[in-house]
Amino acid sequence: MRVLVTGGAGFLGSHLCERLLKDGDEVICLDNYFSGKRANVAHLRDNRNFELIRHDTVEPILLEVDRIFHLACPASPVHYQYNPVKTIKTSVMGTINMLGLAKRVRARILLTSTSEVYGDPEEHPQTESYWGHVNPIGVRACYDEGKRVAEALMMDYHRQNKVDTRIVRIFNTYGPRMAINDGRVVSNFCAAALRGEDLEIYGDGKQTRSFAYVDDIIDAIVRMMNQEDHIGPINIGNPNEFTISELAALAIDLTRSASKLKLMPARPDDPVRRKPDISLARKVLKWEPKIPLREGLCKTIEHMRTELGIVSA
Ligand code: NAD
Ligand code: UDP
Repeated sequence: MRVLVTGGAGFLGSHLCERLLKDGDEVICLDNYFSGKRANVAHLRDNRNFELIRHDTVEPILLEVDRIFHLACPASPVHYQYNPVKTIKTSVMGTINMLGLAKRVRARILLTSTSEVYGDPEEHPQTESYWGHVNPIGVRACYDEGKRVAEALMMDYHRQNKVDTRIVRIFNTYGPRMAINDGRVVSNFCAAALRGEDLEIYGDGKQTRSFAYVDDIIDAIVRMMNQEDHIGPINIGNPNEFTISELAALAIDLTRSASKLKLMPARPDDPVRRKPDISLARKVLKWEPKIPLREGLCKTIEHMRTELGIVSA
């Protein structure tokens, strides 16, 4: 298969490129390096089945491919709120361009949507049939509503143009190669604990998230692309739910850090609870996450130690 991975130089994209090359695919990695970097795929560049293209998905591109994994979009609140108008353009115009390409070359296309489409959910855990509770005019809307439009586009190209589409809704994912300055909670806490700095908790720390290790999520994404029975959306994530305070305590424990917790003002529209119902993924993808938070965090911390040049304790 010749496969296009948009956002391939980002956190998830780089792991996906690696996995697809291992599976024997020819991989074209496309990225504008907004929140990703060449270094994430530097180890793949000598592979004769790997090609790297600098391109912004907001502009059309014509490539001959069989499959498109459409990941290009900043995912951390810090990154997607930096230039919110561009975030919306990336979700809307970027997805239209990739769907146009899929239609033209008859490629199957998978969108990495997000648990953010559920907003601050009133249903717990979240099932795919829940329509969500998103503030359409808030500071997270550029991402949440952008992804909701991207999902609508996927479904309309499927219904109207018979494009072969797949949608996964990914819940909070972490692991090696998350940028240290990414701004998301796992990288912030691990980096602060390793540096002996305060771990900043936004709000009271009682809000929850359910964290999945990157390898589990990549496996689910590939399974979703490869199966014929369901176009989605399908939730993929780890249903083990933790408070942000629990995560902070674990990061301090695993790094044997002397760091302290520091309470900061809550972020606007920060969802209070989040946990995926993964019954559909279990059934359709024959998949469930294998790596517990403690084990995944240890791997992430080891990688971050190397990045930060901190010698193991
Ligand atoms: P990331 O920021 O590391 O990766 C996104 C990549 O897309 C980056 O390499 C960035 O440079 C690239 N990009 C952004 N805008 C682009 C544009 N206009 N043109 C070309 N490239 C562009 O984030 P990630 O965590 O790897 O997320 C990847 C995808 O998965 C995103 O679509 C995100 O919405 C989705 N997702 C991730 C999570 C998670 O927890 N990691 C959760 C839900 C959904
Ligand atoms: N968070 C925090 N400290 C940080 C970064 C994030 O307390 O340094 C909190 C944040 O307010 C949210 C949760 O951790 O409640 C997850 O935040 P993240 O940005 O990782 O992802 P998202 O909010 O998009 O799920």
